[in-house]
Amino acid sequence: TSELLLQSEKLSVAGQLAAGIAHELRNPMTVLRGFTQIIQNNPEKTYQYTDVMLHEFDRVNSIVEELLTLAKPQAVKYENKDIVKMLEHVALLLETQAVLRNIRLVRRFSAKELVIPCVEHRIKQVFMNILKNAIEASDDNGEIEIYVDQVGDSAELRFVDHGCGIPSDQLRKLGEPFHTTKPHGTGLGLLVTHRIISEHKGSVSIKSEVNSGTEVRIAMPVPSVTVKQAQSF
Ligand code: ADP
Ligand code: MG
Repeated sequence: TSELLLQSEKLSVAGQLAAGIAHELRNPMTVLRGFTQIIQNNPEKTYQYTDVMLHEFDRVNSIVEELLTLAKPQAVKYENKDIVKMLEHVALLLETQAVLRNIRLVRRFSAKELVIPCVEHRIKQVFMNILKNAIEASDDNGEIEIYVDQVGDSAELRFVDHGCGIPSDQLRKLGEPFHTTKPHGTGLGLLVTHRIISEHKGSVSIKSEVNSGTEVRIAMPVPSVTVKQAQSF
C-alpha cells in the first residue's frame, strides 16, 4: 500500500502543476493566436502589433521561468507557529465567500493557542481545502463548526458541516487522485491535505452521513517542549 500512496502523491503534484500551467499560459497564448490571425489577414498591420506580441511572448517566458523555480527542490522550513492563529486567518479569508450564501463559520476553540513545528503555508492550505469543501457541501444559511482542542500532547481540529454528506461507497474513494463529484472539482484537495498532514506526523479521518453532514478530524502532535511553553503563558 505504501507504493500506491507514493504514486498518488506524484500524480497529485503533477495534476496541480498541470492545472496551474494550463491556466497561466492560456491567456497569453490566446492573445498571440489572435494577433497572428490579424497579421495573416492584414499584413500591413504587422508593425502595429509586434509590440503587443513581444510583450505577450515575454509573459509566457516569465511564467516558464517561475515554473522552473518551483521545479527546483526546495528545503521546507518547519517553524514553531500557532495553528489557532492560522486557522482564524483562513476562516476570515473564506468568510468573505461564505457570507454570500449566509453560511456561518462558528468557532468552538477550547485552546487559545497551539504552537507546533509546521510549515505555515502548507497548514493554511489544509485548512483552506477542508473549509472550502465544507462550504461547497453546505446549503445556504448553513453552519460550519470548527473545534480546536488540545488533548494531552495532541492538537485536535474538527471541521463539522451539516451539508449533503458522503455516501459510504464514495467515502472509500476519498483521497484517490482526481476523485471528484463536482463539475469543476480537481479531486486533489483531500489528497494534498492528507499528504501535508502526514508530513507533519499527524492523521486525518473523515466521518460522514448522507443528508446529515461531514466531520473532518485532524490530529497533530504537540511537542512536549512547546506544551511547557504554552502552559507558562
Ligand atoms: P474537490 O473538492 O475538487 O472535488 P476534494 O479532494 O477536496 O476535491 O474532495 C473530493 C470529493 O470528496 C468531493 O468532490 C466531494 O464529493 C467529497 N467531499 C469532500 N469534502 C466533503 C464534505 N465536507 N461534504 C461532502 N462531500 C465532501
Ligand atoms: Mg475540495
